[in-house]
Amino acid sequence: MSPATPSPIAFPDVILPQSASQLRTEVRSFLDEERARGTVLGRPDSWLAGWDPGFSRRLAERGWVGMALPTEYGGAGRGFLERYVVIEELLAAGAPVSAHWVSDRQAGPSVLEHGTDEQRRFFLPRIAAGQCFFSIGMSEKGSGSDLASVATRAERTTTGGWRLTGTKMWTGGAHANDYAIVLARTDETEDKHAGLSQFIVDLRAPGVRIEPIRLMSGEHRFNALHLEGVELPGSMLLGRRGDGWKQVTGELAFERSGPERYLSTFPLLVSLLRELEQRSVTAEQLTHVGILTARLHSIRRLSLGVAASLDAGAPADIRAALVKDLGTRLEGTLTETVRSVLPTPADPHATPGSHPELLAFALLHSPGYTLRGGTNEILRGIITRGLEQH
Ligand SMILES: Cc1cc2nc3c(=O)[nH]c(=O)nc-3n(C[C@H](O)[C@H](O)[C@H](O)COP(=O)(O)OP(=O)(O)OC[C@H]3O[C@@H](n4cnc5c(N)ncnc54)[C@H](O)[C@@H]3O)c2cc1C
Repeated sequence: MSPATPSPIAFPDVILPQSASQLRTEVRSFLDEERARGTVLGRPDSWLAGWDPGFSRRLAERGWVGMALPTEYGGAGRGFLERYVVIEELLAAGAPVSAHWVSDRQAGPSVLEHGTDEQRRFFLPRIAAGQCFFSIGMSEKGSGSDLASVATRAERTTTGGWRLTGTKMWTGGAHANDYAIVLARTDETEDKHAGLSQFIVDLRAPGVRIEPIRLMSGEHRFNALHLEGVELPGSMLLGRRGDGWKQVTGELAFERSGPERYLSTFPLLVSLLRELEQRSVTAEQLTHVGILTARLHSIRRLSLGVAASLDAGAPADIRAALVKDLGTRLEGTLTETVRSVLPTPADPHATPGSHPELLAFALLHSPGYTLRGGTNEILRGIITRGLEQH
């Protein structure tokens, strides 16, 4: 790499397009309507836990699902920066976006990039209409950080299709969604990164067994996804046989780069401010709020830099890893700071949307912030390697 190559952790200073402020106003007024309907409770982690297909469809009617997909496939043909404005508003408000989250964030872009024209024409308009929800079928027991060691096998059938056998772990939303993109081994190779392929699996197909994994809160969001000889037609191979690793790493850039990696607990800060408004506030409390706000502001600027790189089609994986490491740590710090600024007992059974309930929600979800989508230790390895290569 030449010395003139920009550092992989240099972030462009982003100016949002002019259309952004109009768009932001439209999203806020949509959210006001939804609040009046009672669908937006301002909960933390709403991109993971707020499953509301009706909300997703109404959002799609505004053109805000599959925003960056081309219009010929039913998308809105708008850029990643405009999409960023929409999703940051939704996350900040704690809107229930989890039904379409994975389809919008990574399944759609993956099908667009690697899919056949038939796959694009079938899946993309449905995704953009908020009518087709995807799960991520990557991790397995013992194959999380070391994803290339997946043991799920896909064998050719005599009819030109595939038979999948194995168990995926932590498959978010598999009990409610329509499809999962599953990473499986198709060929035995010396290099474990070769011989992997991706498949689109219908989650209602015979041989699919879904076993709940409950969170500490008792919520059912995750599953073990057992694939017990699931037969797929040949047309459900996504991309090229053997290119699974390359495809999955590209997908991870989308998975790791968004504002959900620092805004998961933001609604709790909003709730704290509402609580403080009703009290006389000390200088110390204000200082803590100020520090959190400053950190959020600086991570937002970095995160926008990642969105700008994606918009320009430039590689963003190292920058995304850095923002995700900083951002997910802030998600935990925010929860702890809110707790110390206003010592309120967390109560999962308190009135939905009240401060004690939101605090309990954020606390019970907190072990996942720095794990999901790749742990922070793994992210730091990616950043270090990127810097060394530079
Ligand atoms: C809330 C939540 C949602 C998730 N959703 C999904 C989903 O929808 N679909 C899906 O496929 N997966 C999902 N996952 C799985 C997630 O991607 C994995 O948990 C994650 O990649 C870590 O893998 P692991 O759990 O196997 O931990 P391990 O890989 O076993 O890691 C255990 C510990 O060892 C450390 N470690 C491992 N290797 C190294 C190394 N080389 N150097 C330094 N430290 C290392 C890790 O950082 C970690 O602290 C989800 C996980 C969580 C918690």
